[in-house]
Amino acid sequence: MIDEKHQTKTLDFDLSEVFLQQSQKALLLRKESYKLRIDRLKKIKAWILANKAKIRDAVYSDFKKPGFEADLSETFVVLADINLALKSLKKWTRPTSLPAGLTYFGSSASVVYEPKGVCLIISPWNYPFNLCIGPLVSAIAAGNTAIIKPSELTPNTSKLIAKMVGELFPQEEVAVYQGGPEVTQQLLRLPFNHIFFTGSSAVGKIVMEAAAKNLSSVTLELGGKSPVVIDKTADLKDAAEKIVWGKLLNCGQTCVSPDYLFIHEGVKEPFLHHMKHFLDVLFKQPEESFKESPNYARIINKKHYQRLCEALSTAIEDGASLVCGGDVDETDNFISPTVLDNVPLHTTLMREEIFGPILPVNTFKNHDEVIQYINKQPKALSLYLFSKDKHIQKRYRLETSSGTACVNDVVVQFQHPHLPFGGVNESGIGKSHGHFGFLAFSNEKAWLKQRIGFTSAKLLYPPYSATKKSILDILMKYF
Ligand code: NAD
Repeated sequence: MIDEKHQTKTLDFDLSEVFLQQSQKALLLRKESYKLRIDRLKKIKAWILANKAKIRDAVYSDFKKPGFEADLSETFVVLADINLALKSLKKWTRPTSLPAGLTYFGSSASVVYEPKGVCLIISPWNYPFNLCIGPLVSAIAAGNTAIIKPSELTPNTSKLIAKMVGELFPQEEVAVYQGGPEVTQQLLRLPFNHIFFTGSSAVGKIVMEAAAKNLSSVTLELGGKSPVVIDKTADLKDAAEKIVWGKLLNCGQTCVSPDYLFIHEGVKEPFLHHMKHFLDVLFKQPEESFKESPNYARIINKKHYQRLCEALSTAIEDGASLVCGGDVDETDNFISPTVLDNVPLHTTLMREEIFGPILPVNTFKNHDEVIQYINKQPKALSLYLFSKDKHIQKRYRLETSSGTACVNDVVVQFQHPHLPFGGVNESGIGKSHGHFGFLAFSNEKAWLKQRIGFTSAKLLYPPYSATKKSILDILMKYF
């Protein structure tokens, strides 16, 4: 059954039929010029520019995300991705020629960027427009068809996405299925050529298991705990301002949000002082409360609100001390920005991804203990280091592993147009954004064109004579 208006299909709609239509269309898209992909991207861009206010309203009704944050982190980032693709697609789609060398004398070799085919995009609720349409931009840039499953926890944005797709694309090119895990489970039974999943590590494992049944390739953009380390050489005021911004953006519900903080014991007090200052001035007027501020979002739902309140109260019961915040209001899923000091490492706040406006702070004496601690945890999506010391920066680059890392800032590495974005192991598999997003949705096909007649390979055809053995010996020695 199709809701014509929003191109929304319910579970009883024949998924396999749309899948089949998309599979057939994918064969045609493969042959198309990149210029037609550009036309599709331009259609999305024009729709977004014409509907900015609707995107803003939809995410506001989903979790009171401030309008400015919606423009910045939902709309602008997707437009930037589209603009980069529009500028670069001709170059990205051009085969890369590679040298042949003597052993392939007379042949030509290149890498051809072939569309993977029919792709599934499953997205989370926390940046509901960006994390759905961003991957779609890469999928289209790479010449694929796509089925999208937006999050059920942001119904207003998901409905808008379905409306946009319905207005811009026939279902054999792009289709949207709304609903919760049951819809995802049904989609996951289909033999997609690629699955691009953004969400929690727990669900990422379910997706990968299902993908394995069809050997579908996967990009898994997952979460985890991103540590922040503040060295005694750091500019504390600058660090405090940046961390407050990165932590409170989207009310802490950001995959690359600073999750917990290790600070050198000698600089904790002045740092906390700066932090309290920026908490007071960055997201609200000084005389205003966070609850009154139009710049501060809410926790997505009751379940996550309760999870966070429980983690906060047990940390305090277990000995953590409240530096500031701790105000909550269940009627509005409101949690004020909260900083905790001396948080025991066994507490939920230090073990599980926080995904809310609570920042646990602990101190350290030397970097060995911090590096050792980080290396014992699942690999993070991001690591943040505030330090002016180049030797310390090098130590963290070489001695820790994370999907991304940023020195002297937080979160901004996410949107760098030329950097890959993604996790490693527990925090994800594969990379996205810009050229890396294009590659995630492309099969990098090896294309070798051999000469006719004599080839260097023929020198090694049987019968395996002594001369051929000598040739092989030379090859092994010099090539
Ligand atoms: P989630 O894993 O609960 O849900 C993501 C998607 O999976 C949704 O569309 C949901 O409907 C579906 N889903 C949920 N349970 C399922 C199940 N049992 N079977 C099949 N599908 C299921 O994640 P979320 O709560 O929406 O998002 C928050 C998480 O996403 C955090 O862990 C965050 O760090 C992570 N995240 C990662 C990135 C990144 O780029 N790496 C970006 C944003 C969010």
